[in-house]
Amino acid sequence: MPIERFLAHLSWMQIRDLPKDPGVVILPVGAVEQHGPHLPTLTDTLLVTQVLNHTLAHLPDEVQAWALPAVNYGKSNEHLGFPGTMSLSAATLTAVLHELAASVKQAGFRRLAFFNGHGGNVAVLDAAARDIRATLGLHTFCLHPALYCDPPFPTTPEEQRFGIHAGEIETSLVLALAPELVRMEQAVRHYPDFPSDVAPLFMFGQASAAWLTRDWSPTGVFGDATAASAEKGAALLATATAKLARLIAAISRFEVAHG
Ligand SMILES: [Zn+2]
Repeated sequence: MPIERFLAHLSWMQIRDLPKDPGVVILPVGAVEQHGPHLPTLTDTLLVTQVLNHTLAHLPDEVQAWALPAVNYGKSNEHLGFPGTMSLSAATLTAVLHELAASVKQAGFRRLAFFNGHGGNVAVLDAAARDIRATLGLHTFCLHPALYCDPPFPTTPEEQRFGIHAGEIETSLVLALAPELVRMEQAVRHYPDFPSDVAPLFMFGQASAAWLTRDWSPTGVFGDATAASAEKGAALLATATAKLARLIAAISRFEVAHG
């Protein structure tokens, strides 16, 4: 990423003097948690950081956007029981987001976007963003993993429905970005065998169960990691960065109707 896009590379005087409006500060929020036998526990933090780096490297000069160093840990207690999962509580993550948002506001910025890399963070980030808007006045946005999970190649209906963790998409992205960290010989295919009458309670229904990974997957994988490839990862990266660049440009200029 260009040096001037990474806020922590600048001095305090440079940050003071930035033209901040239009403009947005982006805080990546990742996770350190099990990602099956074949991917590193750093997967979510690695992907969110790298996808943002690629996006900011290609952002048009006139879009004012600056990245902060990532919050490396997220709320990952759905993966407890798998060694290497490092989870913050919802309360701790919320406090971290609020305190960093207050610092962003003090620095004179008007807009803050969380770029989230982990499904377990979604509810916390959405709630924190609303509270930050209400209490600090910052315009606050959430960019979620769905952004880079919309594959530009054919995939099976099963994978589309249940391939949510360490499956074809995440494995392909890590193969494209950090292949030395992938143990493809250990990649597996595993879909949760929900009884058909309770399946709607899990991922996309109108009701939801508070599931734990270990209840449904002995390896920690939901999806088909064996279908992954670096070529698919490169294609995903290209579509994700294009989408993210458009959203960042729109967010950097965001105004409310009655401000
Ligand atoms: Zn992940």
